[in-house]
Amino acid sequence: MAEYMTQIIGKQKNIALIAHDNKKAELIGWCREHKETLNQHFLYGTGTTARMINMQTGLPVRGYNSGPLGGDMQIGAQIVEGNIDFVIFFSDPLTAQPHDPDVKALLRIAQVYDIPIANNKATADFLLTSSLMDQEYEHEIINFQQNIKTRAETL
Ligand code: PGA
Repeated sequence: MAEYMTQIIGKQKNIALIAHDNKKAELIGWCREHKETLNQHFLYGTGTTARMINMQTGLPVRGYNSGPLGGDMQIGAQIVEGNIDFVIFFSDPLTAQPHDPDVKALLRIAQVYDIPIANNKATADFLLTSSLMDQEYEHEIINFQQNIKTRAETL
């Protein structure tokens, strides 16, 4: 078994939308700006962010728990399961968050699974206007079956 395996981010992306409280207005404005593009994909989000985007833009967003109550971890788990493959996360760099460890965990797991992730508006603009947005994208991720086999046999 190979150490890496090919995974496909489909033409229609499964996009997670998350914003800390001071960044919610900015993310909602960004969603409004990119509504036409976002409408072509499947949208998910932490509870409050998802509800506010839906209420204020009309975009359908499936909400998980609120971030401080485990929503970021649920989104991280969906990345591991292969159900979320794109993240827009407007985090607040100027305010301490009670769920900072969860935020770090989400960033880390997105990195492990080679998931595109934007943490500010400029990056989000570049990502969403990429020509890869309406194509399939193949990427290599660690083959976790092989990884477990090797570890179980060698540790
Ligand atoms: P919220 O969570 O959308 O429920 O506010 C966001 C976060 O703080 O991670």
